[in-house]
Amino acid sequence: MEPSLKTELDIKETLRRNLEELNSRIMAACVRSGRSPNDIKIVVSTKYVDHDIIRQLFELGIREVGENRVQEAQRKYEALKDPSGVALPLSWHMFGHLQRNKVKKALQLFELIHAVDSLRLTQEINETALAMGKKAKVLVEVNVSQEPQKYGLKEEEVVPLLKELSPMKGFQVLGLMCMTPISQDPEPSRPIFRHFREISEEINKIGIENIEMKYLSMGMTQDFEVAVEEGSNLLRIGSILFRDVPRIL
Ligand SMILES: *Cc1c(COP(=O)(O)O)cnc(C)c1O
Repeated sequence: MEPSLKTELDIKETLRRNLEELNSRIMAACVRSGRSPNDIKIVVSTKYVDHDIIRQLFELGIREVGENRVQEAQRKYEALKDPSGVALPLSWHMFGHLQRNKVKKALQLFELIHAVDSLRLTQEINETALAMGKKAKVLVEVNVSQEPQKYGLKEEEVVPLLKELSPMKGFQVLGLMCMTPISQDPEPSRPIFRHFREISEEINKIGIENIEMKYLSMGMTQDFEVAVEEGSNLLRIGSILFRDVPRIL
């Protein structure tokens, strides 16, 4: 059968199997590294699928989802409301680079913004959050791999930025996020993850007021097991869950 002709039940069965595989591989990585799976949060990267699939994930127990674009998240959020306008109780994460003109919408919609990477952006977020009477929960993105990447702070820029953020009342910094270069082999990510974790431990040691290192957002489909072994507590997972599932991306 063509994937597009699959029934909702077929799709749900497939999602269930993919989720089971993900969970058992996380479990095995936890056993190898002496960690508890309870300490690892999975946020499903839903950019690949439309709202109907997100609803099925919800029915399978998923409560945290991440999107890369504010408008796409907004569209899916609206489509998932029930007829009386009540939103599905999901927690939305912003994974992508945030544009300054989207900050207000982002603060309305997202529980956690993963990729804060410039002082200019943080000033915009701070002012907007204060005007809305809330604190923006954010992670700071660090470019720890040697490859030239578009986004993420250089390592030496992290502590100075955190010190700038420390007195800002519109902020609650909850940790760090990193991306690894695309690779078929997960092992090249290991030293990157290890170093990333060391950076967060250094920051903890320095102790910057109002800055918490609660989350290490690292690990995707290509390298989540290595990420677990190296101390990740927030995995951003997409592709592995959407094998044989109709996709929009
Ligand atoms: C798409 C995406 C993910 C998930 O990647 P998969 O390889 O599909 O698991 C994680 N983080 C970010 C920032 C992404 O854009």
